Amino acid sequence: MTPLTPNAPIPARLAVLALLLTATSGGCGDTPVNPADAATTDAGAAPDAGATPDAGAAPDAGAAPDAQPTPNGCPPITAAFDQGMTGSVGTPTWAPRLGGEAVGASVLAYWKYGKPSVLTVTFDDSTQGQARYALPALFARGLVGTFFVNPGAARFAAERSTWDAAFTAHGQEIANHTFQHEGGMTEAEADAAVTLASDYIKEHVYGMDPASHKILAFNRAGGSNWFLDPGSEAWNMFVRAHYLFERKYSSGIPAGATRDDMVDFVSTAFGPGGNFETTGGSIHFHGVCDEVAYPGCDNESVEFPTDNAAVQKGELERFFDWLVDPVGFPASNLWIAGYSEYRKYMVVRSGTTVSLEGLTGTGDAVVIRVRLAFSMPSPLDVEPVQYTSTYGQTWGDQNEMGDPALYCCDPLTVFTRVPDTWPAALVILETGEGHGYRVHQGEVRYEAFTDGVVEIRRAEEGEVDIPYVGLP
Ligand SMILES: [Zn+2]
Repeated sequence: MTPLTPNAPIPARLAVLALLLTATSGGCGDTPVNPADAATTDAGAAPDAGATPDAGAAPDAGAAPDAQPTPNGCPPITAAFDQGMTGSVGTPTWAPRLGGEAVGASVLAYWKYGKPSVLTVTFDDSTQGQARYALPALFARGLVGTFFVNPGAARFAAERSTWDAAFTAHGQEIANHTFQHEGGMTEAEADAAVTLASDYIKEHVYGMDPASHKILAFNRAGGSNWFLDPGSEAWNMFVRAHYLFERKYSSGIPAGATRDDMVDFVSTAFGPGGNFETTGGSIHFHGVCDEVAYPGCDNESVEFPTDNAAVQKGELERFFDWLVDPVGFPASNLWIAGYSEYRKYMVVRSGTTVSLEGLTGTGDAVVIRVRLAFSMPSPLDVEPVQYTSTYGQTWGDQNEMGDPALYCCDPLTVFTRVPDTWPAALVILETGEGHGYRVHQGEVRYEAFTDGVVEIRRAEEGEVDIPYVGLP
């Protein structure tokens, strides 16, 4: 049975924490804090590289068990981990960002792949309709959704095998919505509500020791009451002390919303001048119902009476089809990501500087070396010690959510100016992992881990193995 004791003994956890601190003190060059994080990037089970990016593409089975470990313990960068990078090598169409700059000038992409904004598709309450209909519909299209689940709720138990396999077999992100959709009016109650959910998710979904650390997304249960004001800084510390990114920049979709309603919302909110254009954000769902097998489902799920605020399965699937349409608005404008991936990218991007380390050789034969340097950005590393969670984390000098090892398998997208004559560039990471990328108007866009030095040389078009497709 699982260690779901509400009052897990703190001394035992502190002992584990001490071991982890010792084991991970070397940062990204060593084994990451937890193996599950290392599997996160490529386990999205996106369609095979080279497959057409339409909805019919068959996704990889499961969590890419053949992925070779890399020297930094992170999964290799692949062309298959995002819907924006699938398909045949097309003509890149992005607007030059470094025009007029000297060779070697570099800039970080604000959002991954250089897309203008980021969308997360999120779900509350681990409803049965989500497990039956939304999860497989996302997986079939190579999309990653984020499911805020209640592992102690009956509706979760009814689909337990699906939820437990949601990451390893279906590439979805599972997040914390408290154990039983509750709050906590004392520190101990609140701690149990979030800790029991996180521990379940770590152990059963991600296959980790529940006492090890993994950043999860978090959403408070609707109507729940807490011992701290959720708008206060003390609350924020409580959340971070549990390794949680709380959901924000989000808009719920009303019951009975159609595909067109969803498309209108995303096009407006994430488009030029929209509320989520620069912040990124979520489209958020509750129930999903099968309108064919259970006629009349609209708002209420006939099949699963506890599924509230339902949308019809067919409408949701047509919305997902739009998300992966290779010529649609999302393909060019949205990085579609899991919620914790999105928030981790913000942390890594905010804490990373990029600079020219040096140039060797001249002209077409120049070798460019670019340095990415990461330090945990404020406020993640400058908080007074005020709160200690079950995980033994005090928010201050030894800020575990601020441990770079929790972020170092999340690559950044970088643009670097290269000679105009190059058709392609070979980008070799400090770990030795190398990939070919297209060059467009004297710029190469590539994926790199931080910290480290990246070496960039001329390559030929035939050497490109990471295509970016359909990006502005
Ligand atoms: Zn809820």
